[in-house]
Amino acid sequence: MPQLKPRVVILGAGFAGLEAIKALRRAPVEITVIDRENYHCFQPLLYQVATAALSPAEIDWPIRHILRLQENATVLMTEVNGIDTGAHIVNTNAGPFSFDFLVIATGARNSYFGHDRWAEFAPGLKRIEDATCIRGNIFSAFEEAELARDDAERKRLLTFAIIGGGPTGVEMAGAIAEIARQTLARDFRRSDPRTARIVLIEAGPRLLPNFSEQHSSYARDTLMAMGVDVMTSSPVLRCDERGIDLADCRIDAASVVWAAGIMASPAAQWLSAEHDRAGRVVVGSDLSLQGFNDIFVIGDAAFVKDPRGRPVPGLASAAKQMGNYVGKLIAARVAGQSLPPFRYRDQGILATIGRRAAIVELGHIQLTGFIGWMFWSAAHIYFLIGVRNRIIVAIDWLWSYVTFQRGARLITEVSPTVRVE
Ligand SMILES: Cc1cc2nc3c(=O)[nH]c(=O)nc-3n(C[C@H](O)[C@H](O)[C@H](O)COP(=O)(O)OP(=O)(O)OC[C@H]3O[C@@H](n4cnc5c(N)ncnc54)[C@H](O)[C@@H]3O)c2cc1C
Repeated sequence: MPQLKPRVVILGAGFAGLEAIKALRRAPVEITVIDRENYHCFQPLLYQVATAALSPAEIDWPIRHILRLQENATVLMTEVNGIDTGAHIVNTNAGPFSFDFLVIATGARNSYFGHDRWAEFAPGLKRIEDATCIRGNIFSAFEEAELARDDAERKRLLTFAIIGGGPTGVEMAGAIAEIARQTLARDFRRSDPRTARIVLIEAGPRLLPNFSEQHSSYARDTLMAMGVDVMTSSPVLRCDERGIDLADCRIDAASVVWAAGIMASPAAQWLSAEHDRAGRVVVGSDLSLQGFNDIFVIGDAAFVKDPRGRPVPGLASAAKQMGNYVGKLIAARVAGQSLPPFRYRDQGILATIGRRAAIVELGHIQLTGFIGWMFWSAAHIYFLIGVRNRIIVAIDWLWSYVTFQRGARLITEVSPTVRVE
């Protein structure tokens, strides 16, 4: 009888899942990769799809193609809906799958802090369909403003509110300002896109709270110079179909983008496991679930502390490190060996504000302005998957830089709140 290989089931082929799969490429195991999408999404550039600088296919790749040469990995497209830890079974829409080792890397989703109804009026940016919907909202608003017969309605249509002053909110605000002031400046006859109001709203006292105070001020000043209204210490009290309410004012806006928060995928519910306030499963120093040394949770779905006792951040670099560690740990266990605990290495944080302006905090390397922007662009091109995509994105960015144009201005879907019939 041939010896059966250990079955490793990996849920999610995002940053964490893919690294785990790759780290197991030479291990004598049978890997089943389960993802509800047929593609891996490079989320750091979702905002570029939402603002028409890139097309979806430039930041998403078929998982099956990425893993085509890894013969020990089988890819299945279906949605996970539960886990039976005792029976070692994952339940999916396509039925159950048994495992010897389970790696949960299902990432995070938008969080509206208990106001789920706001999702209808203020789409978040987490999946590619969110990005194409926001893109549709933004460009429809300009089209509807050209048709509007009433100044107040035109003003509402040309008001764009972004909720959340983290990197995604800052990036979105800068990009929408560029669309209004530069890309579309000469394209309309009855309305003037340059009069658009772009408002960035942050509940806390400053933008980019994870960056230094100096860089936070730099982001605010740069956005204000681009014509963005920056409102800090302004929690949103209500979102509805015509705009948002803050404590001291109402903003009528046709396009509202939610960049204020995410929470983990429901892994903690599937496992009935201890979790933090953001729903992340608390795991041990080898990223395994308490009481189970063959079930691991990694990436945005996991809560673990770094060597200095701080929670490991929800970043692509952290997810990749966790994936790589768990892949190697399983390979070691299969070979009868062990590994020391997981150690997170801080690889820095980056944010871009617009063409020629970005912030880089990488240990002693602290960059802003054009140099920071060049660094940001090079880093993102480097981390894209596939030579073709790197070349296409580099050419697209160069073209946009020279011409101020955005090549993917397609309205394919729109939230109902934007259309005025
Ligand atoms: C707009 C945005 C911008 C960002 N910018 C940056 C940045 O500049 N730098 C940075 O380092 N990080 C950035 N991040 C964070 C980074 O993308 C995440 O930390 C990273 O994606 C986490 O990796 P992951 O593998 O845990 O999850 P993900 O990459 O989200 O992958 C999860 C996978 O699981 C699948 N999945 C989910 N639920 C199920 C289910 N029930 N059944 C089957 N499959 C499922 C999904 O389809 C997906 O493929 C950004 C995130 C967003 C949303």
